[in-house]
Amino acid sequence: MGQRATNPPDHSSRGFATRAIKAATTPPVVDQRANSVPLYLSATFSAADAEELGAIATGARPGYAYARIDNPTGAALADALAEIEGAQAARVFASGMSAIHAALASVLRTGDRVLATSAIYGSTRSLLLNQFGRLGVTTTFIDATDLAAVDAALALTPTRILYVETISNPTIVVVDVAALAAIAHAHDALLIVDNTFASPYLCRPIELGADLVAESATKFIGGHSDVLAGAVAGSHERIASVRQVEIDTGGTLSPLSAFLVLRGLTTLAVRMERHAATARVLAAWLETEPAVQRVLYPGLASHPQHALASRQFPIGGGMLAFEVVGGRIGGGAFIDALTIPELTASLGSIHTIVAHPPTTTHRQLNDAELAEAGIAGGLLRCSVGLEDLEDLRLDFAVGLAAASAAASAAAARVPHSQPVGA
Ligand code: PLP
Repeated sequence: MGQRATNPPDHSSRGFATRAIKAATTPPVVDQRANSVPLYLSATFSAADAEELGAIATGARPGYAYARIDNPTGAALADALAEIEGAQAARVFASGMSAIHAALASVLRTGDRVLATSAIYGSTRSLLLNQFGRLGVTTTFIDATDLAAVDAALALTPTRILYVETISNPTIVVVDVAALAAIAHAHDALLIVDNTFASPYLCRPIELGADLVAESATKFIGGHSDVLAGAVAGSHERIASVRQVEIDTGGTLSPLSAFLVLRGLTTLAVRMERHAATARVLAAWLETEPAVQRVLYPGLASHPQHALASRQFPIGGGMLAFEVVGGRIGGGAFIDALTIPELTASLGSIHTIVAHPPTTTHRQLNDAELAEAGIAGGLLRCSVGLEDLEDLRLDFAVGLAAASAAASAAAARVPHSQPVGA
């Protein structure tokens, strides 16, 4: 095989532009192993000759040619995520939605049916109903905590995918991944799990029998609100199909984003421990507060799936939800009174983030769909950050006082015969 000269010895006879381009794009040769994954900001990679380039492009030999197809920083992140998910392989994507799309598109065909949890992220619901729906895929929603109902629904209609979230957005419903995998497989369906709220530190769905796991690495894995990313992990065979969707649709993660997520991954364990320690104390305290009607946290004995959560997760996680008095008005007063948490739509960050799902993450749902998903007007979703616990508790106490005052003012405006809407 002939080798092209990569560094012709004398460029001096060439023009300025040619020399500048060659000089400024010649990577250093490094003999030592770097202690972090280098950032390869290169869209293209050169081959030694045409034959080698062809072999890499067609997958006949490993290597890099074009960064949408594979890039070293993204590949390092994918390998790291496969390792911590307990999966054979993984691919990384430009966002969590891009990852979820690729996981679904790698399997679905026109005429297929999906059975999905009714406690589902709003954009995933829209993806299934609007995008895959247009292509002839039917989606039915079900309470995925009701294993008998899931079993009956799969027995009734041939189904390609059972789709669930380990911990649901925003109602913190916990599903039994191992039991759902067994039920799905008994009916020749695949189980795909969105593990974003749990993160692989709390739960590794592949180890529990899921066929594919999708993560929004924008959240706990990245952890710092500075990057959008997604990942899908599974067997070599399934990830080969996911990779084909990625190549064809171009949802590739940028190397810079991969670098940031790799950095986040190194501290995922300590961050999750701290998120969970603070969330647990806050949740227990909120439960004692008169302005709080309900607290949903997997680590509390009052959580409907507490026994399952204790078995499935080592700790309760960083996500909790609670309902304040005064419905929509009370919820709005609570978040407006806060001074520490960020009022934004994301989660899994160093910052505590309090969201009002009916106006943010679940804005695509009408009132009936909100009620079906168990989302009350006063429901607040809290992603507990890494700030000091006492500061958060004091801030939340101010929020609760504001919710109470707003609820009383609203009640005073309503004639006695009419109940205040929740
Ligand atoms: N899955 C869940 C449960 C989410 O909450 C989100 C975003 O909030 C996503 C997926 C989508 O992730 P991304 O915003 O990275 O596309």
